[in-house]
Amino acid sequence: MITTYMRFAIRVLLISIVISAIPTYSNAASTPVNKNTKQIALTFDDGPDLKYTPEILKILAKYKINATFFVLGKQMQRYPEMTKKIASAGHVLANHTWSHRQLKLLSDIKIAYEIRATNQLIFKLTGQKNHLFRPPYGAISPSQRKLIQKQGYQLSFWNVDTRDWSGNLPNAMLNIVKRQLRHQSVILMHCYGGDPKNANYTVETLNTLIPVYLKRGYQFVTISQLPVPVKLRTPFRQTYAPIKQQPKPMIGVIHPIFK
Ligand SMILES: [Zn+2]
Repeated sequence: MITTYMRFAIRVLLISIVISAIPTYSNAASTPVNKNTKQIALTFDDGPDLKYTPEILKILAKYKINATFFVLGKQMQRYPEMTKKIASAGHVLANHTWSHRQLKLLSDIKIAYEIRATNQLIFKLTGQKNHLFRPPYGAISPSQRKLIQKQGYQLSFWNVDTRDWSGNLPNAMLNIVKRQLRHQSVILMHCYGGDPKNANYTVETLNTLIPVYLKRGYQFVTISQLPVPVKLRTPFRQTYAPIKQQPKPMIGVIHPIFK
């Protein structure tokens, strides 16, 4: 007779086998930096797409800076050429699952497949061996967190949330950045405007944000280039309201530094 414990042990073993097949690597090229160095890692989730992604790539190229794109497997499958363009411009691709379903709705086995398939496609299209994982909506249970970390993935969240998906106007987003920015920060934005996300103002915001913070002495880096305690900081909180309760776009007063 199979006991509950044995069933559990078999399940854990199966999941470990599935996840261990995921190619990962650790980016040992992280440059050691002084904790007082001012750094911003821009991150763009849910893409690639053909509307916002090319615009974002253009701005990043204009200022010669690199960013991290937390891509979805299904979007890479739709737009393989755009995926390759992101990588060939020197940006980092990281894992945001295949289908952007909430992890709490999936079994551990399904989560493992979502992560593995996405990582394999990143590798197939770009040659990048990714080790960063950001769960959809930033939502992950303690047991899922442990399982994923055990397999060599680094969970990667953010500490500045522009809420660009809600249709926030540029001045509202710039005010959020101004309020939440630390010496070393990870900023959450999106490069795919599929329903219900509305990243109409993300590009416009970047046009102001990047030059202002460059002038103020910040370096723009990929997440892998941040010091470990910063890139692994997990200030987890549920920042996404359920769709029906999405707040109205915030219309803030432009802070003097952005005028
Ligand atoms: Zn997302």
